[in-house]
Amino acid sequence: MTLLLKHFILGSLQNNTFLLANEATREALVVDPAEGSALVADEATRNGWKVTAVLLTHAHFDHFIGFPSLCTALSYQPPIYLHESDLPLYVNGGGARQFGFTIPTMPLPTQDLSSKSALNTGEEIIQVFHTPGHSPGHVIFYLPSLATALVGDVIFYRGIGRTDLPGGDYDQLLGSIKNVVFKLPDQTILFPGHGPETSVASEQKENPFL
Ligand SMILES: [Zn+2]
Ligand SMILES: [Zn+2]
Repeated sequence: MTLLLKHFILGSLQNNTFLLANEATREALVVDPAEGSALVADEATRNGWKVTAVLLTHAHFDHFIGFPSLCTALSYQPPIYLHESDLPLYVNGGGARQFGFTIPTMPLPTQDLSSKSALNTGEEIIQVFHTPGHSPGHVIFYLPSLATALVGDVIFYRGIGRTDLPGGDYDQLLGSIKNVVFKLPDQTILFPGHGPETSVASEQKENPFL
């Protein structure tokens, strides 16, 4: 029994949103619900999966602005999981104003990811690693059974996360990449928050910023 990972490209910033389902328990998680996440809800409903939580890699608005449309389409509201160091950013609208976006008031996260090193979905484990630098409370989700990591805006295909936004820190970001992302097994597939997927080995060899 393995997890199923479904990938959506959503919104004007081409965000990657994920639906992670355990077929055995019919439960699913949504990671980073971007603008237009009603589509993700529809996919869960079509498969008979209950969305038990929404996980955020970090609190930039483009990674959670789709939460209301997700809930409307589901007709229920799953709890939000976020690292507490990104809570100030979250309650501030995730930096939306700076980009000319307005964001509705959102329910507060109910689970602090700083206290969790792993989430359990049936027999499958999701490991949570704190990777500050792009934002103070950024985390990545590593799915050992799929040899895949959802890395948010820490690292991209041949790129790295920006550190010029409030709370960004270039040295911390490089530390998060070298000491966390690059410590995952070489063959690990990396799904960033935007753009194409890549792998640990490929970025170790070819990333021009590292
Ligand atoms: Zn971001
Ligand atoms: Zn982003």
